[in-house]
Amino acid sequence: MENVIVNKNGVKFITFSKLNDIPFVKHGFSTKIGGISNGIYDSLNLGFKNGDTKTNITENIKRFTNAVGLDYMNLVISDQTHGNNIKVIRSGDKGKGFFRERDYSNIDGLVTNIKGIPLMTMFADCVPIFMVDTVKQVIAVSHAGWKGTKLKIGKKTVHSMIHEYGSNPKDIIAVIGPSIGKCCYEVDKKVVDEFNKNFNNTSEFISAKEKSKYKLNLWNANKIALKEAGLIDKNIMISNLCTSCNSDLFFSYRKEKGQTGRMGAIIQLI
Ligand SMILES: [Zn+2]
Repeated sequence: MENVIVNKNGVKFITFSKLNDIPFVKHGFSTKIGGISNGIYDSLNLGFKNGDTKTNITENIKRFTNAVGLDYMNLVISDQTHGNNIKVIRSGDKGKGFFRERDYSNIDGLVTNIKGIPLMTMFADCVPIFMVDTVKQVIAVSHAGWKGTKLKIGKKTVHSMIHEYGSNPKDIIAVIGPSIGKCCYEVDKKVVDEFNKNFNNTSEFISAKEKSKYKLNLWNANKIALKEAGLIDKNIMISNLCTSCNSDLFFSYRKEKGQTGRMGAIIQLI
């Protein structure tokens, strides 16, 4: 699968060829290029929770949604806590988290089958998981840092699609988007122990380094969880873009030691 870098009116974002092939979906993953924020948020910061001004963030979100070709009036944004709670978005939820106050909290994944509602989750190194049921026409986007990955949020998102909309996992296309790669993601034994509780094959995505340090491949861990949920191997694509290696393009929490902006993963049925 190819990553396609789009530049629309100066706003750069990434799309994925496998999702571009689906005619009833629009999607994108933002970069840090094309916004109005300054300093550590330079310039397309979309995250409300990290100290940038509301005016800047609102303008940046409008620029990003416009660039992708989506209407921000209906935009729904998650309330992320590194958990694994998924919210099914109904027509009454339009605009929540952006244009209107949220009436939900502790939500790291969003699912809907309603056309015209963009769903967005926020990132700076954590793993975005885009999903589309190509038969029932259901979409989802989830946020998987190491905790969400350990909790198998991708698998839980698939379960929401099955339970709520009768999705067949074999019809679901998944894209594991730009995020911190194994190349740059070192963790300690405490994290490895947590994964060993929930996965029985951690050697497939964790490798030991020197001095009880480990390399964690979040992309492969999420792929394993999606396969456990019934997705077909060839329907799970990995973007292979590391946000830390490509810090000219992306905000990276680890590279900037927490002092950085947030990017958005957005998807909508059209
Ligand atoms: Zn890297």
